[in-house]
Amino acid sequence: METEKIRVRFAPSPTGLLHVGNARTALFNWLYARQQGGVYILRIEDTDRERSAEEYEGKLIEDLRWLGLDWDEGPDVQGEFGPYRQSQRLEIYASCTQQLLEEGKAYHCFCSPEELEKERKKALKAGTTPVYSGKCRSLPRDKAQTRLAAGEEASIRLKTPGRGNLSFTDLVRSKVSFDLALVGDPVLVRSNGLPAYNYVVVIDDHRMQISHVIRGEDHLANTVRQILTFQALGYPLPQYAHLSMVMGEDNARLSKRHGATAVDQFGKDGILPQALFNYLALLGWSPPDGQEVLTPAELVKLFDLNRVSRSAAIFDYGKLHWLNRQYMKALPPREMAETAAPFLKNADYLPKAMNQAQWAWLEQAVSTLIERVDTFADLTESFALLFDFSLDGLDKDEKDSLQTECATKVLDVFAQKLKEIERLDYETFATLTQEIKTETGCKGRELYHPLRLALTGRSSGLDLDKLIPLVESGAKLDFPRPLKNCAQRVAETQAYLS
Ligand code: GLU
Repeated sequence: METEKIRVRFAPSPTGLLHVGNARTALFNWLYARQQGGVYILRIEDTDRERSAEEYEGKLIEDLRWLGLDWDEGPDVQGEFGPYRQSQRLEIYASCTQQLLEEGKAYHCFCSPEELEKERKKALKAGTTPVYSGKCRSLPRDKAQTRLAAGEEASIRLKTPGRGNLSFTDLVRSKVSFDLALVGDPVLVRSNGLPAYNYVVVIDDHRMQISHVIRGEDHLANTVRQILTFQALGYPLPQYAHLSMVMGEDNARLSKRHGATAVDQFGKDGILPQALFNYLALLGWSPPDGQEVLTPAELVKLFDLNRVSRSAAIFDYGKLHWLNRQYMKALPPREMAETAAPFLKNADYLPKAMNQAQWAWLEQAVSTLIERVDTFADLTESFALLFDFSLDGLDKDEKDSLQTECATKVLDVFAQKLKEIERLDYETFATLTQEIKTETGCKGRELYHPLRLALTGRSSGLDLDKLIPLVESGAKLDFPRPLKNCAQRVAETQAYLS
């Protein structure tokens, strides 16, 4: 028997920015397609004209590509089952509607929104699930035609059994059952003539020969309506895999109050796409050996729909940051510097156009400072240590420790020695501190703490052996905000104390 071709789709509605829940759905579909040698389709579900916007479609595509996904068929790559934008498929849907009406599987419903709302409220008050009463179901077709001809507005509904159970096997959730008495006849086409999502998705999944529908569990209630529509149209069912929801650590649906949720925001926050890609793959799935840092190729190899968890996926920002650190540190120095540059330019630390010497310095600075941060955005703060030397942040204890007898002597001797040497690197600094120790009799914290405060304006931070070469070489370059060298820092500290 010929094995079925695996064809999956990611079908976003362009009504907002791509958030991590949907990005995870997009990624799981991609992993499955790539692993199975299948086809990955991007379909834009824009039948809701009021909520859809073209710029969101462009942004969705940009964010998916940034994340590292690619598709074989879609609005921007074409394919034999297009168009891949639902707003361009209205004629296809209309012909299916005609078929359903002719076969008596769908009917016109003249109930007004007010009437339906009244019914709904009544049911809610009685504590029952609101289900359409089916009032227009038995309206003869000729009567309906007359009312339509008279200009009455009507929606089109699917005739459903209204009782019994409908079950299907979900690849993640196993057997799922629905009581059809609670489903009601879904609207296929709204009274404004536009087809409903639950309807067109069925036609598209069938026509695009989708073998597996992998999507969020929030669509489960839609699935039952869609299956009824598949059956009415005489189409075979795809396989379903409903992914659990993405929650915050407090078990509530992930929202902005937990932190960033839009893919775009993670990029702006300095998360690398490869880190987010890796993290999203682990959101509700894990490889058998528990390995966590995995390349796309490794993920494709290991991914297994059978290992996708049914329980809620908790979005752990700490883990994402940990992964981001691994990916940041693994970048070659030049790439590290190139990724960091826009953040640092934004903070006005770097000029718009950089020369070779500045790039070389940046490579060195970023490679050094990256050890201490979670994201590229955080790096900006680390660069403040280099560019924004200031003593204004010193607290009383710090000021006091700069004014002890030892501190005064240490800084005097250090300042003097800096004038005498040509170049300060870490070896010279080590020699100098030994000399200062001998000459002042100060050692340990009494020697090093004033030096650290005078060179950085802070009690803790980067080791001086790493800081000194960066400060000295950076001070020789032309930056929008000139970087002060060690001698300038010490002189400024002495002036501040006098
Ligand atoms: N357009 C739907 C959404 O954005 C997804 C539909 C589906 O995957 O079936 O939620």
